[in-house]
Amino acid sequence: MVSRVIPVENFDLVIFGGTGDLARRKILPGLYRRFCAGQMPEDSRIIGAARGDLDDAGFRKLIGEAIEEFVPKNRRDTQTIKDFTARLHYVAVDARGEKGWPELAKIVRQDVVTAFYLSVGPGLFGDIASRLHDYEIANPSSRIVVEKPFGRDLESAKALNAELASAFEESQIYRIDHYLGKETVQNLMAVRFANVLFEPLWNAQYIDHVQITVAETVSVDGRGAYYDKSGAMRDMVQNHLMQLLCLTAMEPPSKFDPDAVRDEKLKVIRALDDIAPENIVRGQYSAGDDGVASYVEHSEKPDTRTESFIAMKVDISNWRWKGTPFYLRTGKRLKARMSEIVIHFKETPHSIFDEDAGSHANILTIRLQPDEGMDMRVTIKEPGPGGMRLVDVPLDMTFAEALGPQTEDVPDAYERLIMDVIRGNQTLFMRGDEVEAAWKWTDPIIEGWTTRGDRPMPYEPGSSGPEDALMLLHRDGRRWREIRK
Ligand code: NAD
Repeated sequence: MVSRVIPVENFDLVIFGGTGDLARRKILPGLYRRFCAGQMPEDSRIIGAARGDLDDAGFRKLIGEAIEEFVPKNRRDTQTIKDFTARLHYVAVDARGEKGWPELAKIVRQDVVTAFYLSVGPGLFGDIASRLHDYEIANPSSRIVVEKPFGRDLESAKALNAELASAFEESQIYRIDHYLGKETVQNLMAVRFANVLFEPLWNAQYIDHVQITVAETVSVDGRGAYYDKSGAMRDMVQNHLMQLLCLTAMEPPSKFDPDAVRDEKLKVIRALDDIAPENIVRGQYSAGDDGVASYVEHSEKPDTRTESFIAMKVDISNWRWKGTPFYLRTGKRLKARMSEIVIHFKETPHSIFDEDAGSHANILTIRLQPDEGMDMRVTIKEPGPGGMRLVDVPLDMTFAEALGPQTEDVPDAYERLIMDVIRGNQTLFMRGDEVEAAWKWTDPIIEGWTTRGDRPMPYEPGSSGPEDALMLLHRDGRRWREIRK
């Protein structure tokens, strides 16, 4: 099968923070890959805007080097890097002052699609949005893209929304959550809403519980100061895990269109119950045998109570889910890098087989990483003589195996999302009210442990988190799926 590349219109994409870590590691290598796939029309340009005093040549060199560092060798070559970087321009801009803005106003065209990617700290969103407006660089069809973190609580998120709203309509604002750009996450919607098999069973009557795990092996080394103000709840749960929960739990939207999908996600967030303290386990990694420092050492605050791990039991109060808990967990310095959503179906209401046949339940696993794909465990008879012995076997749908070479050039999350911005498709971006609702649910939980003065529990690096996180399921007669490579 030949993959279909949907053409986009000519564009000028301005990347504020174009010399920063995110731009060099993700955004520009991603754009290079789309350029190689023929998705950057002849007359389109990328304009870096940042503090450093570079010129076009300096910026092209910087990004050429970034591509060599971050794009695998077999996916790049000298000529396409040269052709791609020829599309790059640079304007030194001070987001907080007036430097560079008149030049930017001159360079950005008004007769093509214009998009402004704010790959800078949220403290600059308001300054940049208002100057884009005041210098008449943005127009009513321009798009503005903002990175996480989108606030640190409801109040700050509202303030950011208000700053953006002073210069842009909601239909122009693209709040990135790169988890939504992952192939499997979209496949979750395809599996649910393009097959008749799953949806009738997708409720509390047939699903025992859901587990969502985002496990990382990295520490917060080098980002301690930032992370200490955030923690796993703000950094991961409020956005990424919440989005995965919403897509798993939402009602079928009437259409696959941005507002229809986002309306349904919003309803899920609004139906989340408050969480009792006994349903939350927070952890902090200790020092490792391999000489890696503990969280406390990375944070540089000897009495820090920030969590590098969190596990929680979440209940959704609506007809579909009442009685089916969603267990969420995420953490740093864990056993393996693994993200997955696991749907545990209930056992059959009655077994016609002997007790020896054991109890069995279907499990659907949606793997985000590694090996994007899904597998469904079904129960069959173990082959051979010896009576009716039952065994669970996987129906494996690893995309790379099922679809072959077609999956080799699948755009990564950033590539896909940037192209969606250029196309003007907001489906995979968070709406302002969605982000606010997520903070509204998160704030009292954080406030609760802050006022109680709870300390996170220490956990061994390379483990599955604190012992109590295992207990969160054991006490309900359930088990976490193992965190494994
Ligand atoms: P960075 O510090 O590496 O880069 C910041 C960029 O902003 C630089 O290009 C700098 O020149 C520019 N800048 C800073 N102040 C400016 C000003 N006053 N005027 C004009 N330009 C200015 O940061 P980063 O890691 O690239 O992160 C950028 C944003 O993306 C942050 O909000 C971060 O939280 C978010 N983010 C980063 C990552 C990541 O992996 N790096 C992941 C997710 C989100």
